[in-house]
Amino acid sequence: MATINLAIVGVGKIVRDQHLPAVAANPDYRLVAAASRNGRVEGIDNFGSIEEMLAAVPSVHAVALCMPPQYRYTAAIRALEAGKHVFLEKPPGATLSEVEDLAACAAAQGVSLFASWHSRYAPAVEAARAFLAGTRIRSMRVVWKEDVRQWHPGQDWIWQPGGLGVFDPGINALSIVTRILPRPVFATAATLAFPENRGAPIAAAIRFTDAQGLDLAAEFDWRQTGRQSWDIVASTEAGEMLLSEGGAKLSLDGRLVHGEPEQEYPMLYRRFAELIGSGRSDVDLAPLRHVADAFMLGQRERVAAFHD
Ligand code: NAP
Repeated sequence: MATINLAIVGVGKIVRDQHLPAVAANPDYRLVAAASRNGRVEGIDNFGSIEEMLAAVPSVHAVALCMPPQYRYTAAIRALEAGKHVFLEKPPGATLSEVEDLAACAAAQGVSLFASWHSRYAPAVEAARAFLAGTRIRSMRVVWKEDVRQWHPGQDWIWQPGGLGVFDPGINALSIVTRILPRPVFATAATLAFPENRGAPIAAAIRFTDAQGLDLAAEFDWRQTGRQSWDIVASTEAGEMLLSEGGAKLSLDGRLVHGEPEQEYPMLYRRFAELIGSGRSDVDLAPLRHVADAFMLGQRERVAAFHD
């Protein structure tokens, strides 16, 4: 395959932690430019906006959009209209409708759109999916509890409408659940706890079921101190399954059966190259739809103000 000239837009934490090392290690890509209001990537051309970059560097084939979700649509539509393949960080946008619009635009332009869900590429996710496919699930519990001060210090966008609050990490759990379950689920009830000074929830609980009456409960909480949990537990006819550490480890009846090193972003970039090479898109909106349903169905509570 010809080398993909890649540009990265929205240079912040996830770009430095994951995108730059994953791209540098993948010979399918050449990183040629970056666009960000303040952030810079050493050794390549940097621009203050995607518009300036697209005009100045016509050799770009693909862009990875890593700014907060509220600002992603405008950049994505510019890139698609310029005929570029687009990698969307998760969540793929601030609304379902805008991402559907991007998918239609990508199809009309004949380019690839990839709505990435990095947690689906955690090492034990496929093993969990295979295990659940071979048994009957009695119930499932998702416990995603972390300390927002540790993981999202000073990220104002995350607390604003469209930033998703606790669903920013919670949607990672939902991306795994929607991959490993054998049938689609849907929310039946939800509660959302909003700090009185913030526009997005600090905690949430959702009950789901499916066509066969599955009992699935998910709890998301950003007020966790001490042990952090990113766990999915299923009670099944073949025993208890624990998918822990955000999909990194799989245990069956307390015995670790799968736990290999994490490769999420290298796998995402391999997938993006495959999509470009085969002229396809991958835009699964199921995780974002469940979050939208929780906002639609959820009982809202006001809780104590949150200060960083
Ligand atoms: P971040 O560092 O707060 O933001 C990324 C960059 O976006 C910022 O450095 C900023 O760069 C740009 N940006 C911020 N506000 C903007 C605005 N109003 N308009 C345009 N650009 C703006 O966030 P992040 O942690 O990298 O997360 C970015 C995305 O990646 C989110 O969707 C998040 O869910 C996802 N993600 C994050 C992680 C993680 O561990 N942090 C993991 C996986 C996925 P400039 O100021 O230079 O424009």
